[in-house]
Amino acid sequence: FFVNAQNISETEIIIDDENVNHIKNVLRLQTGDEIIINDRQGHDYKCIINAIEQGRIIALIDSVTHSLAEPQVEVVLFQSLIKGEKMDWVIQKAVEIGVTKIIPICTTRCVVKLENPKKMASKVERWNKIAESAAKQSGRGVVPEVVLPISMSESIAYARTNALCAIIPYEKEREIGIRKVLQSTEAKSFGIFIGPEGGFTEEEIEEALHQGVHSVSLGNRILRSETASLVTLANIMYEMGE
Ligand code: SAM
Repeated sequence: FFVNAQNISETEIIIDDENVNHIKNVLRLQTGDEIIINDRQGHDYKCIINAIEQGRIIALIDSVTHSLAEPQVEVVLFQSLIKGEKMDWVIQKAVEIGVTKIIPICTTRCVVKLENPKKMASKVERWNKIAESAAKQSGRGVVPEVVLPISMSESIAYARTNALCAIIPYEKEREIGIRKVLQSTEAKSFGIFIGPEGGFTEEEIEEALHQGVHSVSLGNRILRSETASLVTLANIMYEMGE
């Protein structure tokens, strides 16, 4: 169960959100039962349920460990906005595979355009809910954050500022396969730039290359945007050790 860090003291954890219903009425756990609580920041707390009250549960902390489910590498996915369900799908699967953060990007050929800020904010809120439930389902130790969309230039600047080993899968790249780049770096933090349905423009690719982003091939077949994201992420997890 994910619980906010402010509900965690040295000795006990207070659960007072929707988890109460899940623990009480769905799982029908009792006092004395063991549960694992995660603080969304990579710590797993092995706890014993001490009290089940109206609207809250108190659990006593038995031990704390660093979540073993977290990968050794950090990967930020810069995902071009793609149509509705596909974006949801990428977020869910990327969280399962081990992404650290998802930054939607608005690129020249995005069919999905930025909506008014209120609408966009509620979309991002929904994406974060998808990320949280995927993290819970796959036993992640942290909940990867999905943030508001930014532009292509802003995303390249973000990768530079955060010293990410930045990779841009590009279907016209014929020379360099993704494994070549991964096998020649010691980096532990990566950024992946994925184009929309219509791909990146040549200008966008040029700008990225100019800023030190590595263009890579994912093979001789054209992958859909959502497939390309997951293939790239899975390659990083595989090559760099989970
Ligand atoms: N518009 C392109 C076309 O029809 O030739 C396809 C773009 S593809 C659907 C979307 C994104 O997936 C691309 O911008 C790229 O980032 C990535 N991608 C798809 N296939 C790839 C491949 N074989 N190698 C590298 N990147 C690929």
